[in-house]
Parts: sequence; structure tokens; C-alpha cells
Amino acid sequence: MTHTASLNSVVRLSDYKPYPFSIPSISLDFCIEERLVQVTSSLQVEPLADSQPLILRGVDLELLSIQLDGKVLDAADFVLDGSLLRIPAPPLQPFTLTTVCRIDPHANTSLEGLYASGGMLTTQCEAEGFRRITLHPDRPDVLSRYRVRIEADRQRFPVLLSNGNALSQGPLSGDPSRHEAIWDDPYLKPSYLFALVAGDLREVRDHFVTRSGREVALRLHVEPGDEPYTSHAMDSLKRSMAWDEKVYGLEYDLDEFNTVAVRHFNMGAMENKSLNIFNSKLVLADAETATDGELERIESVVAHEYFHNWSGNRITCRDWFQLSLKEGLTVFRDQCFTADLHSAGLKRIEDASMLRNSQFREDAGPTAHPVKPDAYQAIDNFYTTTIYEKGAELIRMLRTLLGEERFMAGMRLYFQRHDGEAATTDDFVAAILEGASADRDELGFDPEQFKRWYHQAGTPTVQIHRAWDASTGELTLRFRQSTPPTPGQPEKQPLVIPLLWALLGPNGEPGEERLLVLDQEEETLVLEGLSPSARPPALSLFRRFSAPVHWQAVQDVDELFLLFAHDDDPFARWDAGQQLWRTLLLARASGTRDSDLEQRMLEALRGLLAIEGESDPAVLATLLAFPGGAELEALQKEADPPALFQAACGLRECLGRVLAPLLHQRLEALAPQLSQAWPLGQGERQLTAVIWSWLAAAGDGAVWAQALAAVHGPSMTLARAALRALLPIDCSEREMALQCFYDRWQERPVILDGWFALEAATPRTDGLARVEALLAHPRFDPMAPNAVRAVLGGLAGNPLVFHAANGSGYRFMAAQIIQVDQRNAITASRMAKVFSRWRSYAPERQALVKQALDQLAAAELSTNTREVVALMQQG
Ligand SMILES: [Zn+2]
Repeated sequence: MTHTASLNSVVRLSDYKPYPFSIPSISLDFCIEERLVQVTSSLQVEPLADSQPLILRGVDLELLSIQLDGKVLDAADFVLDGSLLRIPAPPLQPFTLTTVCRIDPHANTSLEGLYASGGMLTTQCEAEGFRRITLHPDRPDVLSRYRVRIEADRQRFPVLLSNGNALSQGPLSGDPSRHEAIWDDPYLKPSYLFALVAGDLREVRDHFVTRSGREVALRLHVEPGDEPYTSHAMDSLKRSMAWDEKVYGLEYDLDEFNTVAVRHFNMGAMENKSLNIFNSKLVLADAETATDGELERIESVVAHEYFHNWSGNRITCRDWFQLSLKEGLTVFRDQCFTADLHSAGLKRIEDASMLRNSQFREDAGPTAHPVKPDAYQAIDNFYTTTIYEKGAELIRMLRTLLGEERFMAGMRLYFQRHDGEAATTDDFVAAILEGASADRDELGFDPEQFKRWYHQAGTPTVQIHRAWDASTGELTLRFRQSTPPTPGQPEKQPLVIPLLWALLGPNGEPGEERLLVLDQEEETLVLEGLSPSARPPALSLFRRFSAPVHWQAVQDVDELFLLFAHDDDPFARWDAGQQLWRTLLLARASGTRDSDLEQRMLEALRGLLAIEGESDPAVLATLLAFPGGAELEALQKEADPPALFQAACGLRECLGRVLAPLLHQRLEALAPQLSQAWPLGQGERQLTAVIWSWLAAAGDGAVWAQALAAVHGPSMTLARAALRALLPIDCSEREMALQCFYDRWQERPVILDGWFALEAATPRTDGLARVEALLAHPRFDPMAPNAVRAVLGGLAGNPLVFHAANGSGYRFMAAQIIQVDQRNAITASRMAKVFSRWRSYAPERQALVKQALDQLAAAELSTNTREVVALMQQG
């Protein structure tokens, strides 16, 4: 096959046609040799329609032979054209097609298909990696039963894994230096869920008894020496299995479940049937080596991949336009899991903040796309926060609209009805509504209109206007919704927007929570009989972040402070504070401090920080957290990242200076709980981190010393918090802390990635030279996407260096992306999105980014990166 990954053609949803053959079973034979791997594939093919050509795909394969029902095909019987193999006139009866191909996993730097990572061989087939292993239709609607034989050298590859149950493993009869393993997966699956791992791995074993009493062997495979860091991931897996049984009634369906940790991996993790493959950073962790945030993330990713066994594997996607069918749903499920295990309120805030800073940014930029796109060039570019996180919000809105009980009845029907199938998002919505036995009339919304959420890109805005009659107690709320144009979608239709809201009394007394369904461009709600008073009751809006929208309501400062102090919905309370923080930071960034508002904020903070104030440290830390940079940039007329960075530094300095006595008092009160093991003590550590960052910014030498000491200490959470607090400050403690962290962890690549990211994000005057030195550092592994993302992502998050006024940061980034693209298109095309906000910058800055984009466009790029760069140039 040729070496070009694919032609630069557009794939459209409207062109979907079922594959004209079924392939009920596949037998694969992998003969792993010194450098190359020989793959023999036998497909049982059954024609579904008359006289259709058989089309298979293959990339970077050396085709050695092709046989049909045991007979070698003549050159005249098939056409090999680029990455397509075409048999124009296959038999009209079922037949067996056997191909033998040779592949070179050591030359494969794309990290798709079969590739070498360290001394092991591993696979990544989603979305279109299977065609780099053997000739196959490689589309998700072709479901087969797989049987796999792997043969390899016993010493180099003592562990041989694939999907399903192990049927046998043992030495080869003729050659004792080699051995083989045979695997059989009884469940039908698409090719993207195929996996194979061969290597010298150590196994950590545990088990889980399902609620019907079956024992499942749980095996975690890691590189030698990594065994001590696996218990958190293993415990997370058992919690996930128990949760899916309890909440969804879904049990695991095989006798064993394998997980492998791999250092060189493009994604976070991959849900291959019964053989999950994880980026090692999402497996290897304990309290000393991972932060609380990382431990929670690992728990949720382990759960996410496990939950895919049903939402993704047992029911898969008909085509890649349906990607959100499995990803949106599984993100929704892992969010609910984390909320159940920890704090539902705080989890919702975390998700809302993530959505605002990442998905809303995507929705407002040149790569905006719907949850269900209608065309793509490279599907790898659509593994986005829109497909995943916005997709999850759509399902959450359905739950809000239907109510928990009816929604869960719908979920049960979905899992029953489509088990063993490749389904669509339309199938999903239909099953949910039917299972909820919702009569269209009593639904309260139009399902067809709801489905616009899947097709319409962009973040809607809801404007809320309020009129209050102080003498009669009549409150009139007017709502107006609109969605801005996005690339290819100039006109937008009104959406079904569930709005959870409540009124708070004059002293913050909570009122009843209600659901209002907005579905018109404009609508009005009149409430009569409220107690007349001079001020209207405070409005608590979009409680629990009930829809992924922006909203604008004229709420004065008194109302926001009342909500910030008293709202009983954690999200709405936090959000009121966020509005205040946004106002303060934007004012500072524009050079005009809002002194009155700063005074009022200081007063409010005194109340919260006092020992008799907010007692939950995790809640307090969340209330004190500044809004993310992306959110603030979107609110500036001309986005100015360096000014926002300086504004945040200035505000922290002011808060740390003025509130120092209270902050120190809190620090002392928190200290005794800091050493508790996760999840205990995490709120205390989170609040300590915020307080350190404020006091450090205010030049508090005692805190600098405390932070430096924490880098030597037993908690990774506190060590990283200390580094982050010191990072913006040009002081010797910062340099010592970074050096000390490096010295301590230099042998652990997973942890050292964190150091690379922090170093690259440090606002030094010679920042770019430092980043260059990092890329040439002996511990930097250019083949590991984690390391590349750490350094280049760190640089992109370094406002003073990346956004330097002379454009040097942009040019440097463009040159790096071009280099990365030559070995790994997926990582490069994701990195290219760092330029996605460029149209919102001031003209001089835009001109500088444009030069960098031109520099990129002039280079020879992969399809993936070319697609992103072209969108950005048009945007
Ligand atoms: Zn997933």
C-alpha cells in the first residue's frame, strides 16, 4: 500500500451507505519476527447485495499474497489503488478471503495501528488504525467475531494479549525459543476495538465478583518496576464495575478484564473490548506521585473506559458521525459516577468550568462543529470537547427534561434494544423517549427541535430581562435566545433549553427550584403574588448548569453578593462569584481598577475566610478560584492574554497583602488535615494551594519557604501547588523548587512531564531559549505525545512568552508543529489548535499569528494538520 494516509477528500454523513457484505468472523494470525510482523487475516465474507465490488482498506502494508477460498487471486482479479483494494466481481455466495501482509511496527511513529513503544508492541485502532494492520473495510458498522493467534519470541515478548478470553498459551512445538497465545472474543465488535499487546510486562492481579456471582479476573500489565503504583487504578476499576451494576444494572460480560499501561500513546486511554490500553500517566499513581486532581481523573478515566463496555462496545456507532453516541454518553456516565462517589455540587462546577474554558472556546472559533458533524476530512480531528463534553450535556438536558426516573427507563430500553448493534444518535434519542413512555403531548418539548442540539454548532446565549412591580409583587421575566453564526452555519434556529431556576428571599432564604423550558426565540414568564418589596427577589439561574449556554441577566452587585453568600445551589453560588471575579479581572486587564467592587469583594472574602465563615474547605477553594483565561479572553473586545495574566497576578498580590492575617489563620487551621490520604484532606490541600498562591504573590517570604519545603514533602498535590504558587514570581525559591522537583523525579517520566510543563510555562525573559533547551533535554522523549504536549502545551499556557509582542512565540510554535507533524499527525493537529483564538486578538497580534499560520500552510503537512490549519486560515 502507499504511504499517504488518505486522500484529501471530504467524507459526508449524507453519503452513508451500509457495507454490502457482512463479515461474521475473522481469524488473525500475528507472527512477530525480529523487526517485522507478518499478519495473516481470514475474513468470512457474506454478500448482502447483488454484484457489489468488495472494497478493503490498507495503509503502509506490504501485501504478500491474497487468496479467495484458498485460490491465489490473479492480478486481473483485484485492483490495488493507493490505500484501497478492490475486488470488482467477488462471488455471490459466502467466501473466505485470506491476505498475508507484512508491517513494520518499529517504523510506525504515528502511534496508530500496531507500533513499538519501548520494548513492547501495542495497538491503537480507533478511529482508523486497523487498516495499518491488515486489509479490512475498517468501518464501525462491520461487526465480527475475532479469533487471534500471536506468535513471538518467548524472552522478548513473554506476555501476549488480545481481546476476549485466552484459549491457550504455550511454547511452539518445533521451536522452544518461541511461544504462541490464542484468544477468542465471543462478542461481535468493530475493527476499531481490536487490540494486541506483546511485551515483557509485569502483571498485577485482582478479581471482581459480579452481582450474579461470576468471578472476573482483573489483570493490570505494567513495565517492570511500576507494580507498586497500580493499586489506585485497580481500586477505581472495581468501583466502576460495582457502580455500573448498581445504577444501570449492567454487568461485565467476560471472564477476564485486562488493562495495559503504555508510555507512547496519543490518547488518554482506549476501551478495546476486554483489553483496555492506557496512557501510563493514567494508571501509575499514588498520593506521593500524583496530585488529588490526577487521582480523581484516573478514577474517572478508568470508569469511562470500563463503562464503554456497554456504551460503545456492546452498542457501537454506525459511522464516525455518531461518535458522540458513545463518547457523549460515556462522559455523562463517568461524570455521574464521580458525582456519586465524591461531591455532586463540586463535580458540576468542575465540568461547567471545563466546558466554558474549552468547549465554548472551540464553539466560538474556526474549528467549531456540531456534536454530530455532517462532514470531515480527518476523523481524528473530531475527538473534541464538543463531541465529548457538549455531547454529555445534551444527554444531561434530556435527563433534566424527562426527570431521573423516566430518563433511566429510557436508558434501559436503549441498552436492551440496540445490544449487539451499530447505532445512531437518532436511535438513542428515540429509545430514551420511548422508554420514558413519554407521550409527545406531555413531554413539554418537541423531540425534533431538541435534536437541533446535535446539528447546530455554536454556544447559544440567553438574555434575561426582568421587570419588577414593587407595589404588586409582580415579576416579569423576558427571555431571548440566539446562537451566533459558525463556519458553514450562518443561520440558527431556536433550541430547547431547560432552565432550572429559583428565587431567593431578601436574606438569601432558598426558594423552590423550578424548570422552565425555553424553545422560542423570545418568551415571557409572569409571576404574580410575590411579596411586594423595594428590591426584586434574587434570581438563581441555570442551577446545576442546566444547559450549556451563556446567559446575560442584569443583576446588580448586591444581588450577586447575596447569591455568592447564600445560594443553596453550589453551581449558582459559585457562578455568582465568578461573575464578580470576571468583572474585577477584566477591569484590571483594561487598566481601570474597580476599587469599590474590590473593597466589597474583600469584605465578602473576610466573611468567608473567617474560621466561623465557610466551613467546607473544598467549597471555599472553589469559590476563591479565578475564572479561566479562555473565558475572560472571550469577554474582551480584543483578547489580550498578557494583560489578563498581569491582572490575575496583580489581584492575587492585592488579596494576599490585604487578607494576610486571615489567610495565615486559615493555613494554620488547615495544616493538621493536610496529610490525610485522598480523598480525605483534598479540600484542605486545595484551599492551601489557593492561599499559597495569594500570599506568595504578595511577596510573603515565609510562604515562599513553606512552598519550597513542600516540594521535598510527601504530597504531590502540595508540591505541585507550591510550584504553581512560585511560578509567576521571579525569585530564587522558584528556581530552587524547580531544580529540587527535577532532582527528585528525574527517573520517572510520567512525573517529569509535569516538570517539563511547569518549566515551559514559567514566565522568564529568556523563556523561549528555555523551551528550546527543554526540547533538547536528555530526558525529553520526542516520541512520547505526553512529553511533547507538556512542553508545547506549557509554552502555549505561558502568556508572556507565547504571546510575546514580537511574534517569536508564534513562529517558534509553528516550526515545532511542522516537526511533530512529520512523525505524529494526531498530536500535531491537536497542537495547531493553540492558534484558534487568533481572530479575537488586536490587529497587530493577528498579523503575527497570520505569519505563523502561513508558515504552517507552506509546509508539507498531514491531512489532519492541513485540515485544522486551513480552517484556522478561513476562520
Ligand atoms: Zn471514550
